[in-house]
Amino acid sequence: MDRVLDTAALLHWPIERLAGGVCAVSQQAELRALNEPRSMLIETLDLDWRDVPSEWHALATQCASETGDLPRLSDVDVDVLALALGLNACLVTDDYRLQNSYKHAGGSIEAVANRVSKAVWLWELRCTGCRDVAEVPPNVPRSKDRPAGECQRCGSSMLVKRRRG
Ligand SMILES: [Zn+2]
Repeated sequence: MDRVLDTAALLHWPIERLAGGVCAVSQQAELRALNEPRSMLIETLDLDWRDVPSEWHALATQCASETGDLPRLSDVDVDVLALALGLNACLVTDDYRLQNSYKHAGGSIEAVANRVSKAVWLWELRCTGCRDVAEVPPNVPRSKDRPAGECQRCGSSMLVKRRRG
């Protein structure tokens, strides 16, 4: 089984464990920004750098919107999830949102440093005004700290919240 390595794995795993891993091309810039010497070392390794086909990208946004994790995933996170889904690979990550989405899709996970939890968490959008709730759509705006959209009913901000019951 292929192993898709997220950026934490590239940063923290011993070099010999990384060989043969699959990574998204978009991770190269992220890695360079985080740790340039490490990125130069990584570039000398035998890794399988892939561009993400648009069909796989669509699979990933669909998968992450089903659990509601999508608004908090970065572009690189979505690429990594897309490669794992497209290749039916083992996904190596400690990001619990990536783990959550991929587990929901039936994928197998390997942790970088921590243990992998078994539970799948489901998230929804909740209005800060009228408290209306909505499922997370595949085209949701993605940002770590901004609202995930506007309420269809009253126009207030929608925030990502744990799904009830
Ligand atoms: Zn509302």
